[in-house]
Amino acid sequence: MNMTSTDNYSAIIGGEKVNGNGTFDVIDPSTGQACATVARCGEAEIDQAVGAAREAYEKNWRRTTPSERARILHNIADLLRRDHEELSRLESMDTGKPLAQARADTTVAARYFEFYANTIESLYGDTIPALADTFVYTVREPYGVTGHIIPWNYPIQMGCRSVAPALATGNCCVLKPAEEAPLTPIRLGELAIEAGLPPGALNVVPGYGEEAGASLAAHTGIDHLAFTGSVEVGQIVSKAAAENVIPVTLELGGKSPNIVFSDADIEGAIPVIVNSIIQNAGQTCSAGSRLLVEEEVQDQVLEVVAKKFGEITIGPGLEDPDLGPIISRDQLERVNSYVQTGKAEANLLAGGDAPQGDKLGDGFFYEPTLFGGVSPGDLLSQEEVFGPVLAATAFDGIEHAAEIANGTDYGLIAAVWTRDIGKAHWLAREIRAGQIYVNTYGAGGGVELPFGGFKKSGHGREKGYEALYEYSQVKTVAIKHTS
Ligand code: NAP
Ligand code: MG
Repeated sequence: MNMTSTDNYSAIIGGEKVNGNGTFDVIDPSTGQACATVARCGEAEIDQAVGAAREAYEKNWRRTTPSERARILHNIADLLRRDHEELSRLESMDTGKPLAQARADTTVAARYFEFYANTIESLYGDTIPALADTFVYTVREPYGVTGHIIPWNYPIQMGCRSVAPALATGNCCVLKPAEEAPLTPIRLGELAIEAGLPPGALNVVPGYGEEAGASLAAHTGIDHLAFTGSVEVGQIVSKAAAENVIPVTLELGGKSPNIVFSDADIEGAIPVIVNSIIQNAGQTCSAGSRLLVEEEVQDQVLEVVAKKFGEITIGPGLEDPDLGPIISRDQLERVNSYVQTGKAEANLLAGGDAPQGDKLGDGFFYEPTLFGGVSPGDLLSQEEVFGPVLAATAFDGIEHAAEIANGTDYGLIAAVWTRDIGKAHWLAREIRAGQIYVNTYGAGGGVELPFGGFKKSGHGREKGYEALYEYSQVKTVAIKHTS
């Protein structure tokens, strides 16, 4: 299917394209112009979608075998790969991300379906040798209807990340994409139908957070909620889930550090550290937004990072620069206000403004920005900027590094750069974060690596085999025998 910038996008409910209660425009952040019109789902459409999911679950999907589900999940992956370039271009237009990044994201999206198609057939229960006259075993069963609320930064990846394990384990899904970037999740819903997924097993309901999102989170017909987004909205949806006594996974923000020791391969580390904050214009929950450097190499490291920031190309996502625009004007202003605060608190070493230049037109661009001498208590050390802004802080010794690394409300990921295996192991144990990298930076890692937060970065785990546990619940069966 060829998409153009004038396309209208419907919701996908019960295997059909459905109009919403009106429409809303989606903006291309590289130009500031509307690029598509999308169905606006409200309470009625959410109710319809949850009903369609329930029907698909009861009549069909919960009765399928893992191998039957695996075959359809593989079909979805194949279609994501067949339409790889179209989806990648759509993603790049919708989010502004560089085309190479969008292509990588589309591949990851297909990998989610492949990974869960491959692993679901080996999700086993246990037998429990507790009693002589009773045979006890466990089975893992789906929850039923799962709700999925995702952000705008990685729509195709996030759209697949929780839906693939939920479908694999036998659930039926209602997916609410972010209003800023709903296009590829809608295409996912269309491809799933083409792949042979039963109508209603995956419904996609674009709309506003306070309308579609809030209706989905509060709906009494959902049995599990997966939320990815901000802490503030995570708290709101958790309260709604608590009202209905359903489990919720929260993948929230981060303030993740790269910790560089003087004994590290600094030359090898710097390009990875730069990429960890430049990737997706810093709009990554697991962005490497803090740089903690051992005092004696601070000047050396910051000088090279500043130089590299100055070499970064900026432009529209489809032109595949190093750095695309920020998602929206509001977000751009938010990033800029953090930078203005930073200028009063720390030393600006690179960037610090919206870039000048006619070719950037009305897009929402921001320069890669580096601050040195940021104190651990400063706003730039504590709050998620969600832009290409790196805050550097010097540390003195390993315990000081751990104290600063742990000194925020977040705990999503961390990276340690050292040649000393002892330091690496010590910090891997001390740091309170869901993923620790040593001499590399994963920004979430591959689909096989369990991912999720400590502290206010959230709870529950996505990705890897862990997600199969997340989207299934254990039933224990005890059978007493006569002799
Ligand atoms: P957000 O404002 O929390 O929105 C996330 C999703 O929630 C969107 O679909 C949004 O819809 C919806 N929403 C908004 N208000 C709602 C409400 N009252 N009830 C139910 N749903 C509601 O976050 P964002 O600005 O899109 O994304 C940035 C944040 O996500 C950052 O903090 C980032 O760290 C986090 N994030 C975390 C991960 C992770 O895996 N840990 C991954 C990516 C992003 P609308 O778009 O229509 O408002
Ligand atoms: Mg957009």
